[in-house]
Amino acid sequence: MRNQQARPPRTPVLLGIPFDANSSYLRGPADAPPLIREAFHCDSSNSSTENGIDLGSESVLDAGDLSLLADGAFIAIESVVAMLLDKGQRPVCLGGDHSVTYPILRAFGKRFADLTLVHFDAHPDLYEEFQGNRYSHACPFARIMEEGLVKKLIQVGIRTMNAHQRKQAARFGVEVVEMRELPALEKLKLTGSVYVSFDIDVLDPAFAPGVSHREPGGMSVREAIAHLHAIKGDVVGADVVEFNPKQDVSQLTAMVCAKILKEILGKMIAK
Ligand code: MN
Ligand code: MN
Repeated sequence: MRNQQARPPRTPVLLGIPFDANSSYLRGPADAPPLIREAFHCDSSNSSTENGIDLGSESVLDAGDLSLLADGAFIAIESVVAMLLDKGQRPVCLGGDHSVTYPILRAFGKRFADLTLVHFDAHPDLYEEFQGNRYSHACPFARIMEEGLVKKLIQVGIRTMNAHQRKQAARFGVEVVEMRELPALEKLKLTGSVYVSFDIDVLDPAFAPGVSHREPGGMSVREAIAHLHAIKGDVVGADVVEFNPKQDVSQLTAMVCAKILKEILGKMIAK
């Protein structure tokens, strides 16, 4: 969390993306990045990850928050993520609604040939369009797969699959692990470069009420961490999205976002 002069390559870098214009139901995730940071640095917990990395003595950079206009936001997101990658850094983006994962992956996809995308979510987000918006937060994984930005997409924790999205998943060859099939630790023992997109609503709303779409029957924080830890590949980037502070209760969800962020950073640094 301190900046170091001689940075090793592949240093994780936080990037806040305060953008929720593609949310279909409630606004609010645009307010999330500073609250996730505040929880991340909160003295109520120490800076160690469960896999033994001390984030206080490791270099984790912070590129701050993007300032975005509704027009041209995706171009700005893609170009800043591309710039950080080209500096040898590994962006970890703090959303924002889930639509931001598409421009982020446009930057990653052009730089990593064999990327596996591990997507934690209650929702498949595979709609061809939603409420007339092809860039809705319900659509990013359709856009990513259409453009061939990743070699493989595996979705974990899904519990809102419908006929249209099932067809889309088949069309794009998505490996869907529905919530009712968990645990799926074996399926996450993948190798190679991995990008983790973590929609906080994969968690049960009992653990993370601060989301726009509360979908009961989700993961515990412990189950989510176990599935993150199961990933064997090299985590080269990640996002934590869909935290909606307007729906939160006593900063509970902010602290959960910070915990997930810490464990993702621990994976990235340990490799
Ligand atoms: Mn999502
Ligand atoms: Mn979701």
